[in-house]
Amino acid sequence: MLHLEGLSKSYAGGDPALSDVTLTVPKGEILGLIGPSGAGKSTLIRCINRLVEPTTGAVRLGDEDLAQLGKTDLRRARRRIGMIFQEYALVERLTVMENVLSGRLGYVPFWRSFLRRYPARDVQQAYRLLDRVGLMDKADSRADALSGGQRQRVGIARALAQEPELLLVDEPTASLDPKTSRQIMRLITEICQERGLPAIVNIHDVPLAQQFMQRIVGLRAGRIVFDGAPSELTEDA
Ligand code: ADP
Ligand code: ADP
Repeated sequence: MLHLEGLSKSYAGGDPALSDVTLTVPKGEILGLIGPSGAGKSTLIRCINRLVEPTTGAVRLGDEDLAQLGKTDLRRARRRIGMIFQEYALVERLTVMENVLSGRLGYVPFWRSFLRRYPARDVQQAYRLLDRVGLMDKADSRADALSGGQRQRVGIARALAQEPELLLVDEPTASLDPKTSRQIMRLITEICQERGLPAIVNIHDVPLAQQFMQRIVGLRAGRIVFDGAPSELTEDA
């Protein structure tokens, strides 16, 4: 379970990007973050794993407050959080399999032979994940030979290879066409449900959020202005 308490962020010289956000995401819940550009969605997601340092507030994951951790503990804690990015953030010159394994490793291998050194158990896990995201036949393809939808599937498998307790998903379909976007959102939500994995999805597209999210939180000027079921969402939320 993730619990944010009084989370605020002010960038130098600006109005608060995030103001006193308190939010609980229970195990298995898939929460969509919506709001106009500049509302603070990315800041909220980045404060959770401290890619952005919160100004005040707590980020409780399990029994730990991530906002209080020092460097070494933070590195360890980040391994508990899977990230999926808009632009996939794959290592283009490596294979699909190598990209997925890098999720498990926690770093990017920079020699091509590392597959042979890697424990069979972890390679098998990566194959299982590739099978789940429908890319079994692409394991040995280079990442830069794939379509956008396929790349995002690799990004999903890589995040899952960490065996995360929480998934943070930042505009996963912003670079994809509408049909591929729906396929990717369906895949992410199905996998989260299968695993009871809580997720926060920064989702630009409101209809997509309404179709796939269990709960929607609307942000405006850094504050929560809506928190409820997709069916309760009105025009002005
Ligand atoms: P969203 O993801 O909803 O578009 P952001 O979290 O990116 O919103 O931005 C929230 C506010 O914080 C905006 O006013 C934006 O200009 C500001 N902001 C975001 N990142 C930075 C930064 N690195 N430095 C200064 N201001 C920032
Ligand atoms: P997906 O199966 O992930 O939905 P698309 O529908 O985007 O993929 O693409 C269909 C096929 O076209 C893919 O199998 C892929 O091989 C090929 N393709 C699409 N875009 C690219 C690209 N930018 N580079 C290489 N192949 C591509």
